[in-house]
Amino acid sequence: MRATQFLIATEKETPADAVVISHQLMMRSGMIRKLAAGLYTWMPLGLRSLRKVEAIVREEMENAGAQEVLMPAVQPAELWEETGRWFQYGGELLRVKDRHNREFCIGPTHEEVVTDLARNQLSSYKQLPMNLFQIQTKFRDETRPRFGVMRAREFIMKDAYSFHASEECLNKTYEIMHAAYSRIFTRLGLDFRPVLADTGSIGGALSHEFHVLADSGEDDIAFSNESDYAANVELAEAVAPAGERPAASQAMTQVSTPDASSIDALATLLNVNANQILKAIVVRGTSEDENADEDTAGEPVVLFIRGDHELNEIKAEKLPGVLSPLQFASDAEIQTIGGVTGFVGPRNLSARCYVDRSAAHLADFICGANEKDAHLTGVNWDRDVELPTVADLRNVVAGDPSPCGKGVLDIKRGIEVGHIFQLGTKYSAAMKATVLNENGKDQTMIMGCYGIGVSRVVAAAIEQNYDDNGIIWPDAIAPFQIGIVPMNYHRSEVVQAATETLYTQLKEAGFDVYLDDRDKKTSPGVKFADMELMGLPHRIVLSDRGLEGGLVEYKHRAGEKEDVALDGLVELLR
Ligand code: ATP
Ligand code: MG
Ligand code: MG
Ligand code: MG
Repeated sequence: MRATQFLIATEKETPADAVVISHQLMMRSGMIRKLAAGLYTWMPLGLRSLRKVEAIVREEMENAGAQEVLMPAVQPAELWEETGRWFQYGGELLRVKDRHNREFCIGPTHEEVVTDLARNQLSSYKQLPMNLFQIQTKFRDETRPRFGVMRAREFIMKDAYSFHASEECLNKTYEIMHAAYSRIFTRLGLDFRPVLADTGSIGGALSHEFHVLADSGEDDIAFSNESDYAANVELAEAVAPAGERPAASQAMTQVSTPDASSIDALATLLNVNANQILKAIVVRGTSEDENADEDTAGEPVVLFIRGDHELNEIKAEKLPGVLSPLQFASDAEIQTIGGVTGFVGPRNLSARCYVDRSAAHLADFICGANEKDAHLTGVNWDRDVELPTVADLRNVVAGDPSPCGKGVLDIKRGIEVGHIFQLGTKYSAAMKATVLNENGKDQTMIMGCYGIGVSRVVAAAIEQNYDDNGIIWPDAIAPFQIGIVPMNYHRSEVVQAATETLYTQLKEAGFDVYLDDRDKKTSPGVKFADMELMGLPHRIVLSDRGLEGGLVEYKHRAGEKEDVALDGLVELLR
């Protein structure tokens, strides 16, 4: 690319609303321009880096076995009504009407659309697993759009969605995607960490975020200083007990695996949408439990967790004949632990809830609750409270013991650049996305979803790579890897000829090259300053004097100038 043909939009002044370094440098280098709050144009310079991030993400998604699709940004309200999110999503969802007064939203995410696609296209377990991804524009009407493209309203996300016939298969794909994410962020040259995460409004069970470590990050990440443990402190996450309490009920495991129709049955009983039920666990106090009330001993308690985290409306009376009303006595508490809400039964029988992989575990719990060994025994709130439970990290400070049991916590700031979830059947059950299983019966598909903030990654990379003069791009996502500044280009035939030859050779060798061919009205100082601001990793200066000795000046953006032979320069840079 020649500077004279390129829309150079570098600026000296930093716009007043740009408070973080990436926003400042993206504006000053001319990568982006603001249209309105949270809406940005990607200029030619910025778009080049964005496309490079996309290309790496696309390549790794394909290597991970995902197939690319492109779904509409505009989504019909009906799909969102099916899952209940039309009512739950809140102000971030931009709702619009067409000329026929039909309601739509501009997609903030695509679970509904892709689940609709899957239920129409997939009919047999033999077609599974299926992993579909897209790189596409999202809209979220963020309360406080800020930091440029880092928290924009319109932004580009890579979102992938996988469909499975079994939990094991989901686990496998989740691992593959976890590994693919690590490769992506490594290739992008970022200092990142995978951390345990909350599942937020997307719902589901197991989840990891990928964070780029930077002081400007909006999230606090707790790291153990003695293990790999890392978690977003906004979340409470199911972990092993901290060790204070005796390890009693190891039995607090899930008892069975029902199907979607059982969830439906429970939903009907409770008079709620099936998709509002994430998980239920049955526990039982027994007479072996010395603290149990006589009355309650032996009775089952069901704990519910709903996707929207509001459990208050679920009333005990809605379960006549299924569970003893005692379990839903008035002294029962609604507890919220790290964004997960649970109904905790009478004192002696209660246990904390924890989220498991899948939503669909209900009917067997109900049927099983009165069977021997079908549930937990001896669970006691006071004694067992730390059992397979939730570590509430929201108030931790550096130096607190790590919930993993090893070491103490260090707290660092992180920018969330990726997020992977095991969704279970939250969406597929609500939308009846089924396939025929081996026995010819309908089976609800199990899902995972996997996001990367492609446009946010570009900003996050700058947060980690800059100095006083501007951006310092990692080679992989530099808009141009090499910048050439010829001195006297318009007057010296020698310089011009050498420059043209080098420019062609470098391009043929596969580099993206920026040739600053502006005339003498633009001083070399300005050219150097622009190039540093734009962050090009390698700079080559050609001059008559150097060329006389067969030399050019080479400088890495973060290094010192040195004279190198023009001969063999292409090899050197390769
Ligand atoms: P955040 O916590 O920053 O609001 P999120 O958890 O709401 O992000 P997800 O629903 O997990 O976001 O979306 C997947 C990815 O999309 C995020 O990991 C992030 O990299 C990116 N992303 C989310 N919101 C924005 C935004 N407003 N601007 C740019 N990128 C975003
Ligand atoms: Mg968000
Ligand atoms: Mg988040
Ligand atoms: Mg997230």
